[in-house]
Amino acid sequence: MALAVTHIILTIVILDLFRHYVFGKKKFPRYLLVIGGIAGLGPDLDIPISWVYSLLAGVKANFHGTFTHSLIWPLIFLGIALILHYKKEMKWAKIFYVIAVGFVFHLSLDCLFGGYKSFLWPFLVAPNFCPEWGIINYAVSIDALILVLWLVHEEIHKKIKDYI
Ligand SMILES: [Zn+2]
Repeated sequence: MALAVTHIILTIVILDLFRHYVFGKKKFPRYLLVIGGIAGLGPDLDIPISWVYSLLAGVKANFHGTFTHSLIWPLIFLGIALILHYKKEMKWAKIFYVIAVGFVFHLSLDCLFGGYKSFLWPFLVAPNFCPEWGIINYAVSIDALILVLWLVHEEIHKKIKDYI
């Protein structure tokens, strides 16, 4: 499973690239990046839920990587977004699209970093088809690399704009 910062930064960076190059700033207000970044960490809500459960039940519980890490959630959020889109409630539709994207990025990253198999919760525990490349050993460096690349991109992008 990837680090919290990776989940947030990578989701924001990718959404920001789409904002720059695909949708444009008018159609994709900046607050959507914040919502997307937070949603990118959304599935890890099972960590504080485990703490609260442990505290209340008096037993050590760890739900991390279970029910909140199911594909059901992004599908539900996508469904809500499509309904809102259909009703022309575009502001809220975009918010739910971005939340769905954040969850999908989270699950993809956790898979890429290895060791998790709750995609299809609660229907079945899928065999672990996620690769075990040992990427987790480089998690901190990956955070730094993503951040540096994004900063460079932002700088180049602003410079390019200055000439136009
Ligand atoms: Zn996770």
